[in-house]
Amino acid sequence: MRPQGLLFHTTNNWKKSSNAEMHAIYLKSEQSGVTGWHVTVDADQAIQHIPFKENTWHAGDGSQGHYNRHWIGMEICTDKVTRNEKLDDKTYQNAVETAAAIVRQFNFTRDQVQPHHVVKGKNCSWDKHFDRDQFREDVFALLEMDEMGKFKDISEERWSVDAIEEVVEEGLMVGFDDGTFRPTEPVTREQLAVILTRWKGGN
Ligand SMILES: [Zn+2]
Repeated sequence: MRPQGLLFHTTNNWKKSSNAEMHAIYLKSEQSGVTGWHVTVDADQAIQHIPFKENTWHAGDGSQGHYNRHWIGMEICTDKVTRNEKLDDKTYQNAVETAAAIVRQFNFTRDQVQPHHVVKGKNCSWDKHFDRDQFREDVFALLEMDEMGKFKDISEERWSVDAIEEVVEEGLMVGFDDGTFRPTEPVTREQLAVILTRWKGGN
């Protein structure tokens, strides 16, 4: 399949040992039958079980279902909490980062990231653990943060890339409106005065 979106679930398995590794073993076992999904995230890692080009059975919309056939399924482990608790920070953060990486890989829009809830109104992801809209917000906020400080004329291989990212993050220097940094352009005395003033202000 060519992935058309990311459907996120919570495992709603609140037993202490039901982490990503346990779910990986489960999926390989006979018991899993016709179920499956692509990625499981817990507090420590994200495990991919099935290549994104293969479709799985995570959405519950049948063998011809749009979500089963075209969407990536991501399960978020709930082994660190009880059914009525907020999800622990580590698992939540890991889920946000994993979702963001998938969104970046396939260039998904916000509409292409949805909770399982959209399929048949299922309470999944489980609404006691986190706010589904907030989760989507957090994924795209992280992607925007990653884009900040990146300039179209600065490649990751450029010798000065770390220093440029640093001075931009510190607010000492900014790029131009056209998204460039113009790394070899000379600095004027007045520009240097502005940079030094910002540096003084921050120290
Ligand atoms: Zn689900």
